[in-house]
Amino acid sequence: MQIICLDLEGVLVPEIWINVAESTGIPELRRTTREEPNYDRLMKARLEILDRHNLGLPDIQKVIAEMGPLEGAREFLDSLREAYQVVILSDTFYEFAEPLMKQLALPTLFCHHLAVAGTGRITGYKLRIDDPKRRAVRAFRDLHFCVIAAGDSYNDTAMLSEAHAGILFRAPQNVIQEFPQFPTAVEYAQLRTEVDAAVKRITLEGE
Ligand SMILES: [Mg+2]
Repeated sequence: MQIICLDLEGVLVPEIWINVAESTGIPELRRTTREEPNYDRLMKARLEILDRHNLGLPDIQKVIAEMGPLEGAREFLDSLREAYQVVILSDTFYEFAEPLMKQLALPTLFCHHLAVAGTGRITGYKLRIDDPKRRAVRAFRDLHFCVIAAGDSYNDTAMLSEAHAGILFRAPQNVIQEFPQFPTAVEYAQLRTEVDAAVKRITLEGE
């Protein structure tokens, strides 16, 4: 029995913060973990910026709903879910992902929660667990699932390594060079071919 674990941003939907920065015209929100590796400091700065611009959760959700999934993502995911169990492992927040999940026919999503006041102001955030993507894959393996994982970025490489097979999708060149052990895909059809090939290979190995 297989579980396919997919990253969300960059694989099925656009980068949420970058799009929020563009739609709101607040360039400071483009900062990512590349510029500020301390995630807590980065998130606190983002929430402080939203406060300063008087933007609450409903404003951000509106922007996110208009982003929509990446082109072809819904069809890819629908077809993948017909063949396999699929779980999305993301470092985003349920409150942000919700408008996009609806457009993807509500697949299973493991991510984090925001703390939101009654006024809609985002007051903080709660990371569900440390190292969540890798630990989810480990847990599925412990439950005797065969796990194939795909993601686009550094924060996915731990889950790709933990899985029976890992695939890089639309990854930047530096990630591809640093992790040459993973096959790469750019189009959804290629990603599907890699997933099917990995499942077949692992099944044969297990016999
Ligand atoms: Mg990503």
